[in-house]
Amino acid sequence: MNKRAYNFNAGPAALPLEVLQRAQAEFVDYKGTGMSIMEMSHRGAVYESVHHEAQSRLLKLFGSPSGYKVLFLQGGATTQFAMIPLNFLSEGKSAGYVRTGSWADKALKEAKLVGEAFVAASSESAGFRQVPDLSKLELPEQTAYVHLTSNETIEGTSFFEYPDTGSVPLIADMSSDILSRPFDLETFGMVYAGAQKNLGPSGVTVVIAREELLEQSPKHLPTIFRYDTHYKNDSLYNTPPSFSIYMVNEVLKWIEEQGGLTGIEQLNRKKAGLLYEAIDQSEGFYSGFAQPDSRSLMNVTFRLGSEDLEKKFVKESEAAGFVGLKGHRSVGGLRASIYNAVPFEAIAALVQFMEDFKSSNH
Ligand code: PMP
Repeated sequence: MNKRAYNFNAGPAALPLEVLQRAQAEFVDYKGTGMSIMEMSHRGAVYESVHHEAQSRLLKLFGSPSGYKVLFLQGGATTQFAMIPLNFLSEGKSAGYVRTGSWADKALKEAKLVGEAFVAASSESAGFRQVPDLSKLELPEQTAYVHLTSNETIEGTSFFEYPDTGSVPLIADMSSDILSRPFDLETFGMVYAGAQKNLGPSGVTVVIAREELLEQSPKHLPTIFRYDTHYKNDSLYNTPPSFSIYMVNEVLKWIEEQGGLTGIEQLNRKKAGLLYEAIDQSEGFYSGFAQPDSRSLMNVTFRLGSEDLEKKFVKESEAAGFVGLKGHRSVGGLRASIYNAVPFEAIAALVQFMEDFKSSNH
């Protein structure tokens, strides 16, 4: 087999090699059925067992709290930006949004198209280099829910503590850090994530929510946009993205093999630590974009002294076999996305490349 690339793509992103190999081994003939998983009915027992296994594995990784349900939806996290207010933001209520950067703002924009939304907290004044302090959130009585983005993929910032919002449901877009470390699911009414970073390939969006939130949707909402449709039909109302869900199940098995979320967190801290240390010890040659206390373990954003030097870095890194290091155009600079499946060796190689690049361009 050809050498695997040092893949730092932001999403779709690296998948565990073992998962790809397992999928390859059963690609043409899934468990003696004479067909691949994507060729069989989603109403049959074989597919359904994969579907249910993936749901229960996910909940188990979060400690199996009672009263939560896993949904597999389509349309990406972006569709959730719309479905959340469509389902939960009723007349006379207002939704609180925490502004942390690019993705949080996209979610807020959608809510405003549907109803009333307010900014519950913001780190705009800090240039979105850190997350706001949510320990003193003040929520008006008619708050429908509070929405936050646990990890800003573009800015490279992350929350490490979540607020207690009492009876107001807390909803999180966890697209870029779900399953990267343990957290208390019971703090949240709902969390959701597009799969294409830590969960599997693109095509499926995972929603985990308290059942009481999923049971009722506004009367006039079209069927497919209603959480209660997917809840009552166990995410089998229409054809689910069966191959993506199968892959999610394989990724979940792999996470179990890494020691679950505690094991994965240890690995992620080691990986991110190595990269941030290289930035911090570069005597200003590299500078981190995010403030240290808000630094993401998944998306490491940094800059060099000039845009020309950044361009040179991208070009030379590509020639050396590193993929996906160019930062998002809205922030500029460089970004290394180091999701669960990016191996430690890839980061060690990147750190070596950064040191060499510094030596020859200092
Ligand atoms: N939220 C976050 C934090 C993201 O990183 C992304 C994708 N990069 C999205 C939402 C949008 O996800 P999708 O492309 O699945 O709609």
